Amino acid sequence: MNKFADTVNILGTTWTIEVKKQGEDKILQSAEGYADRTTRRIVICDASGDTDYGDYDAFQRKVLRHEIIHAFMFESGLGECADYGRIGTDHPELLVDWFAMQFEKLERAFIDTGAHTGAFLVRKD
Ligand SMILES: [Zn+2]
Repeated sequence: MNKFADTVNILGTTWTIEVKKQGEDKILQSAEGYADRTTRRIVICDASGDTDYGDYDAFQRKVLRHEIIHAFMFESGLGECADYGRIGTDHPELLVDWFAMQFEKLERAFIDTGAHTGAFLVRKD
């Protein structure tokens, strides 16, 4: 059973979200998650029961946010043709993590200042 949504809309394209054990996926041997642009899948590692994180759910949500940012970048055309000066990486990981961590604060600042477009933001509070 997937603890997250089964799919996510990335700029109009449906991506699936899968949660797998490390032994079920070769890429998860060396990553906590990944966004596969070829199949439009986000795969998150489930190492629950075998981790030292105090709040593993919070860590998994952080990984999912990170991979969603990757998916947005892929669907924006920022994929394998992007050259950020590092061999083997499509996106600057620092920037991806920054967006993943700061998104809610950015959204709140846009809403609080009236800078948001409104039509694209759905917030109940
Ligand atoms: Zn990444």
